[in-house]
Amino acid sequence: MNSINDSIKYLKGVGEKRSKHFEKLGVQTINDLLYFFPRSYMDYTSPIDIKDCVIGQHNIISGKITAKLPVAYIRKGMVIYKAVMTDFENDITIVIYNSEYLFKQLDIGKSYVLSGKVTGSETRMEISSPMIISANSEDKIQPQYHLTEGLSQKMLGITVKNALLYLDKEIYEPIPAWILSQNNLCSLSFALYNIHFPKDMESMEIAKKRLVFDELLVLQLGMLLLKGRNRTLVGSNMQDVSINEFYDNLPFTLTDSQLNAIKDCTNDMCGKYPMNRLVQGDVGSGKTAVAAACCFFSYKNGCQSALMAPTEILAQQHFQTLNQFLEPLGVKCCLLTGSLTSKQKKDIKEQIANGEYSIIVGTHALVQQTTVFKNLSLVITDEQHRFGVNQRATLAQKGDNPHKLVMSATPIPRTLALMIYGDLDISALKELPKGRLPIETYAVTGKLRTRAFEFIKKQLDTGRQGYIVCPAIDENENDLKAVTTYYDDIKSGAFKNYKTALLHGKLPAQQKEQVMNDFKEHKIDLLVSTTVIEVGVDVSNATIMLIENSDRFGLSQLHQLRGRVGRGNIQSYCILVTDNVSEDSKKRLKIMSSTTDGFKISEQDLKLRGPGDFFGNKQHGLPDLKIADMANDLEVLKNAQAISKSIIDSDRGLNNPENKGLKMLISKLFSDKYFN
Ligand code: ADP
Ligand code: MG
Repeated sequence: MNSINDSIKYLKGVGEKRSKHFEKLGVQTINDLLYFFPRSYMDYTSPIDIKDCVIGQHNIISGKITAKLPVAYIRKGMVIYKAVMTDFENDITIVIYNSEYLFKQLDIGKSYVLSGKVTGSETRMEISSPMIISANSEDKIQPQYHLTEGLSQKMLGITVKNALLYLDKEIYEPIPAWILSQNNLCSLSFALYNIHFPKDMESMEIAKKRLVFDELLVLQLGMLLLKGRNRTLVGSNMQDVSINEFYDNLPFTLTDSQLNAIKDCTNDMCGKYPMNRLVQGDVGSGKTAVAAACCFFSYKNGCQSALMAPTEILAQQHFQTLNQFLEPLGVKCCLLTGSLTSKQKKDIKEQIANGEYSIIVGTHALVQQTTVFKNLSLVITDEQHRFGVNQRATLAQKGDNPHKLVMSATPIPRTLALMIYGDLDISALKELPKGRLPIETYAVTGKLRTRAFEFIKKQLDTGRQGYIVCPAIDENENDLKAVTTYYDDIKSGAFKNYKTALLHGKLPAQQKEQVMNDFKEHKIDLLVSTTVIEVGVDVSNATIMLIENSDRFGLSQLHQLRGRVGRGNIQSYCILVTDNVSEDSKKRLKIMSSTTDGFKISEQDLKLRGPGDFFGNKQHGLPDLKIADMANDLEVLKNAQAISKSIIDSDRGLNNPENKGLKMLISKLFSDKYFN
């Protein structure tokens, strides 16, 4: 017998030629094959009776063979084999084309489980070329693998079984025992057997839990090793001061998630090393309030904080929110954006440098060379995926190794990239503030536009406000013209009796600000806009949004856009207009109307876009993940992070014998190039 790290070609039945097919699946060694996990399972554990079959559908049935009929030779090269199976009430005819091999598997008097499409009528049911399993077979749950030309499910199954034999020979356990017991994980050999050939779905889940854990632990550990923890001491030491005044002054009660996130942050900020934390929460979960609490905590410690937003509109809005929350508490806050006059900028910058302001909100103007801070100790970036890594780093360099907080509504794949680049801790806002009603979403074609407009008017008539979003994706000239024409049409047409305005990225900053302020103060009923409102805009009286050409947006982007309504406790609506009736478009819009859960949506988004470059690995240089899933396994990831830290803290080089297995897995996951 060879070693588990030898080529797949040495496995029984593979050989040189087949090994090439396996290579196409990314499987080169026997070990690779063990880690080539099924994409799904065929579950034969609970077959139904023949009488319960749904005709025209795929069914898994069980029964006993009562007869094998004479072979019929239809025409040259076409042979039909038939057998009869019964559940003692009903019969079904099994039809097998050309495969004597399959037919021979059936013995009269024995029981089987079959899987296949059932056709015919209630009195004459047929199942053709089914998968056949003996009723007392041990393999009632069969793995289904991704295939490639030249390889069948059967072939793969048999080969994997042969590969599993190597586990008995080379039992090894890369994860230290204390981690396994602390996290209630099964052994690696149990996991590998049961991910391929589980005896029931429960064993499969146990196996999966272990494998997901391994993968994320090794990823995290590897990242820590690669980057090294930031071991530079923080510039300003903070004390755990009370921020009850802040809580008392808020117009609402924070959710438990928000309170926990704030606690995570203030704990971090009391530490010797800088905080590096991501607050991740779906649109509307209230990330800004968490940021405000952190700023206040920093203020109470006599320190300056900066909050950087990706757009002027958003910076402006954050400035107002922070002022509302903090000004009554005596905190001085300023806004620094590109649209100020140079005189204004100069003055504000001077005051920032003197420390007259405790909180500075702005766009990337904050990172300009001429912006100097007094004692910048906390740096927050909102919707940070809009910023390059460099901009974040530059802002941080303006302080003396300050605490860093990033806020994002995007769960994947950015989160993963962040962890890789930023070595972040995560606080998740899992709940929306109390009383939020799910947004009702409808997909319609352009034919129903007039009706949709009537619906919008009804909302406006009750004192609400609304948005119409037109896709001007790059804000190029043609798109902008389209938006402008659209606006002119509705302004003098359908909505001539309402106060309307147009907003797009190419307007002068001051005008944008003016429009947003007017909208906030309800001087405008209906805002026609491009996606400049996508990020963060928060007007809770807006309850209706219509999105034109909605098929031109990705699902996650639609979700972000839609998140501009439903921000208060009033029922909100979103109407998706598209004339694209392709299956794909329908599917996408159906997802949008069926859920408002951002995690689900981005997961679906990725599924629809295909597995391809799932995590954008190429771009980010991340190793491939085989089984873990960033959308669903965030908790495991968090746990893996904590464990990684404690391992590294006690054994930086992973030289301890109990960590040898981990070290090996790391160099396997990160190809050697990472360590050179
Ligand atoms: P996001 O997480 O999308 O950035 P925001 O911070 O803009 O969300 O908050 C969305 C809206 O919810 C804002 O109007 C904010 O004032 C409000 N809000 C935040 N937290 C709460 C809460 N605990 N209860 C009620 N409203 C809240
Ligand atoms: Mg926000």
